Amino acid sequence: MPIVKCPRCGKETEFTGNEFRPFCSERCKLIDFGAWADEEFALPAETEELSAEDMDALLAATEERS
Ligand SMILES: [Zn+2]
Repeated sequence: MPIVKCPRCGKETEFTGNEFRPFCSERCKLIDFGAWADEEFALPAETEELSAEDMDALLAATEERS
């Protein structure tokens, strides 16, 4: 039987016949899914991670065009 480790809690669980694979249970699957969703909502990363360097590059590109 192939054994996989639940990516959420690390518990080893059978891969075959596990409808929640690679998670060990529906709970872990839902928690993980929730974590992903939370991360997406919590981090408007695209805008917030624009560093000063990125801004400079953007400005430079804009100036070049005008
Ligand atoms: Zn688990």
